[in-house]
Amino acid sequence: MQAKKFYGQNFITDKNLILKIISLLQNDGETLVIEIGPGRGALTGELVKQFKKVVAIEIDKDLEEILKAKITADNFELIIADVLEIDWSELLQKYHGQFKNIVLISNTPYYITSEILFKAFRNSEYLQQAILMFQKEVAERVCAELGNSKYNNLSIVSNFYAKPKYEFTVKKNMFNPVPAVDSAIISLDFTNNHKSEIDDTEAFIALVRKLFNNRRKTILNNVKSTLPDHDAAQLLNEVGIVSTLRPENISLEEYINLYNCVIKK
Ligand code: SAM
Repeated sequence: MQAKKFYGQNFITDKNLILKIISLLQNDGETLVIEIGPGRGALTGELVKQFKKVVAIEIDKDLEEILKAKITADNFELIIADVLEIDWSELLQKYHGQFKNIVLISNTPYYITSEILFKAFRNSEYLQQAILMFQKEVAERVCAELGNSKYNNLSIVSNFYAKPKYEFTVKKNMFNPVPAVDSAIISLDFTNNHKSEIDDTEAFIALVRKLFNNRRKTILNNVKSTLPDHDAAQLLNEVGIVSTLRPENISLEEYINLYNCVIKK
């Protein structure tokens, strides 16, 4: 079967790489793993050996027979569906009562990387951890810390929902077919997050996004255009943010303080 480019199919071919990725997952013997895009079962085959249960979601119907023939273990469940069409909270709630921990793993189809990331963020209350393969550039942004040239709003949002870590780079020749760019594995620890510091996470994320609309402008100018009803200079002064900084020079904690100050007004 030919790999389908439009489904982002780049299959892992290296057994050591598979074991190295899976070793990053937390497993207390009672853990459920959800895998997005099992493909031909490269990771799945090993996951069913190590975990209590594996639920895999694959869009490509042509892979159904291949997967079912390869993985016959009782602890394997295959859902043939588009992961973006699935109701994640319904699925996760169903398993939440049955399993102590739920972890997510995916060699992600790169055309929907950010959609998958945000689905995980928005349902992170049910998840302990995610181990995800991204394009290297995206992985670097998710995991970048303040002061790093890759730090941007994606880094801030990721650090808000989880503790992200850049685990290791994966060279493009580890896949078949070989993709255009190198990849990287990241881990997200959802138990380490800042959600309790904010009343409305969606409103907070929306504010951060808007403040990055003109990332070359100062935070003062971005606050002026995003929050026209506020005295921008006074607001920044109140939360101790230097008004001449650019949005990418401001920490997550400072954005949280800014948001909390705005909603009090
Ligand atoms: N896990 C396999 C591996 O590592 O060899 C395959 C990874 S491949 C990069 C991405 C997989 O995601 C493919 O099997 C593809 O068919 C599947 N996929 C693509 N879009 C999807 C979607 N919207 N929902 C579920 N699976 C999808």
